[in-house]
Amino acid sequence: MNDKHINRRNFLNILGGGALAVTAASCLRKSDGNDTPSSMASGDPAGGEMTYRVNPNTGDKVSILGFGCMRLPTLATENADGNNIDQEAVNRQVDYALAHGINYFDTSPAYCKGFSERAMGIALSRHPRDSYFIATKLSNFAPDTWSRKNSLAMYHNSMKELRVDYIDYLLLHGIGMGGMDSLNGRYIDNGILDFLVKEKESGKIRNLGFSYHGDVEVFDYLLKMQDEGRIHWDFVQIQLNYIDWKHAKEVNPRNTNAEYLYEELEKRGIPAVIMEPLLGGRLAQVNEHLAGKYKSLRPDDSIASWAFRFAGTPKGVLTVLSGMTYMEHLQDNLHTYSPLEPCTDEELVMLENAAREILHFPTVPCTDCKYCMPCPYGLDIPAIFSHYNKCINEGFVNEDTTDPAYRKARKAFLVGYDRSVPKLRQANHCIGCGQCKPHCPQAIDIPARMVAIDNYVESLKRNK
Ligand code: SF4
Ligand code: SF4
Repeated sequence: MNDKHINRRNFLNILGGGALAVTAASCLRKSDGNDTPSSMASGDPAGGEMTYRVNPNTGDKVSILGFGCMRLPTLATENADGNNIDQEAVNRQVDYALAHGINYFDTSPAYCKGFSERAMGIALSRHPRDSYFIATKLSNFAPDTWSRKNSLAMYHNSMKELRVDYIDYLLLHGIGMGGMDSLNGRYIDNGILDFLVKEKESGKIRNLGFSYHGDVEVFDYLLKMQDEGRIHWDFVQIQLNYIDWKHAKEVNPRNTNAEYLYEELEKRGIPAVIMEPLLGGRLAQVNEHLAGKYKSLRPDDSIASWAFRFAGTPKGVLTVLSGMTYMEHLQDNLHTYSPLEPCTDEELVMLENAAREILHFPTVPCTDCKYCMPCPYGLDIPAIFSHYNKCINEGFVNEDTTDPAYRKARKAFLVGYDRSVPKLRQANHCIGCGQCKPHCPQAIDIPARMVAIDNYVESLKRNK
């Protein structure tokens, strides 16, 4: 990888929502000439009009806030088929999102135990087809889905579940996980990539792209294919936030700095779709010192809004995905992006300093994707990591028994642990079987982390 460094001046040159950014109260598709304004509810929490970016390939005016459909609201009970999505809540959120200018919805056959596409198909099909863009993925991760027959079945099933006869944004899912062997097995050797290109030519797919995690060799290879005129990528989905911009490898040695990924796309004019703007929720809660600084600068804005503004600032970003399980998340994000105020020079410097400060706290780089689940021994792996990270960010991980703050931190950690993770699902039940480890896109050594967290919990129990 040519890990090129962009200095801050260069970064600023690609910021600002310049030529590609438009602010409009409408979700418009330039190509069909049939522009339909979305309604903006009066007295809404957004306060203004959504910012849109224009896709240079199709002229799509895409809302800078994209609706991620990985963590849809759920009910306490499941249907006979295992589906526990709260369809009424999804319908309400989709209606609200559309009414407030969001027009990009990102799902996958792999999300919500395989039921996300169906839920989104039900919710979105209640609206005019030209009022939204649907993004889904060919999520043929398991080797038994690599065959041409099974991959085609997955693709056609997505259309059926989504109740559409064309897909606006189709992604090869999770490129980089498993390296070149996985790329070849899933998409090249079985002729699926050639098939998808033909589907695009026939109009069944309007934009073809890929989402990237992991091995940068694969990312570079796919862009080289475009350089050699063998394919045209209409968009690429990358992980970008103010930690990963320059420090991705400090979070996880397998990751690649977003600065490099973004610049490689930007110089080819490929729009970037952003995932993990909050780094799995970690940037929604920062330590008290940083939180105080953020609040003093923008008292009305949430902690998370700083990460969302950072992610939306580079002008080549088409949309920033946010998985909004709760209406409060949706409303807060609407407030941030209606309209987007790009980060200033001073704010970018402050966020880079914040990134360095956050990295001093050794949180687990878990993004709550749940690919490691279920654990055969019942552990709630993401919930354990989430509690641990939350306590670190709030200053509640403290092993110094002589520190006056120790008792408060100890109590907060232990009480919160029992509230967040049922006892039978806690780290002490890990037997180290390792079944979860290969599924983690962040390459977290989950069994080792479980031992470390359990040792920490035991030390807290011993040292009152
Ligand atoms: S290593 Fe631990 S957490 Fe992972 S699957 Fe086995 S028991 Fe579960
Ligand atoms: S697969 Fe990895 S990143 Fe995803 S929830 Fe599990 S531990 Fe976290």
